[in-house]
Amino acid sequence: MSHVDSDLIVTGLCKEYVTAAGSLTVLKCVDLSLTRGDALAITGPSGSGKSSLLFVLGGLERPTQGAVRLRGRDVFAATETELAAWRQESVGFVFQEHHLLPQCTVLENVLIPRLAGSGTTAEDVSRATKLLERVGLRERLEHRPAQLSGGERQRVAVCRALINQPALLLADEPTGSLDRENADAIGGLLLELSRDLGSVLICVTHSSELAARFPRRAELRDARLTSL
Ligand code: ADP
Ligand code: MG
Repeated sequence: MSHVDSDLIVTGLCKEYVTAAGSLTVLKCVDLSLTRGDALAITGPSGSGKSSLLFVLGGLERPTQGAVRLRGRDVFAATETELAAWRQESVGFVFQEHHLLPQCTVLENVLIPRLAGSGTTAEDVSRATKLLERVGLRERLEHRPAQLSGGERQRVAVCRALINQPALLLADEPTGSLDRENADAIGGLLLELSRDLGSVLICVTHSSELAARFPRRAELRDARLTSL
């Protein structure tokens, strides 16, 4: 794969929400370029458009203007169906809340993103198990989410986001509901695992401690993204 193909390239990204109350511009001309294994932390005031930026980068929202290219592919040139398939294959999301399915075991929760294709294989199970071992949950494979601590649940959510070895890993305040110790652990795992998989990691956070651990940092303010 060529160097150009391994990058996330964002050019002139604008996002405007049109509501009954009028229009609201949340992103103005955002440019960004990240290489495989890169990690960027985004900080900024509440309501500054951080979640909106992640939603657009992950193909959950279309931009008003501009383009996103991931590994050479023009993401928004796709139809809705193609976009959904691309998202499934190429993007992992970690949110502030874990959103695990309560009726499924830890192992099953991690395998959920594999169910969309032709069903899970022995290789999927082996990869999920290895990921869970890597985050220290080898003894918890058959537990249900309610039987885990908050930090453990978020570690499962990280494994679920990584099971498809996504080109792009997006985390929206992933440590926002955790105590200091668990937050540190989740931050470390996101950085370590995304680098090992060759994913681009973009993490929105309110924590200056977490942001400080990222090789690249940027701030979203007044709809503009500025490198720090
Ligand atoms: P942040 O994550 O930085 O707190 P958000 O991206 O969630 O900010 O929101 C930025 C602004 O856009 C907020 O003022 C919010 O109310 C508004 N907003 C978010 N989503 C929508 C939407 N779907 N429609 C209209 N306005 C929205
Ligand atoms: Mg947000």
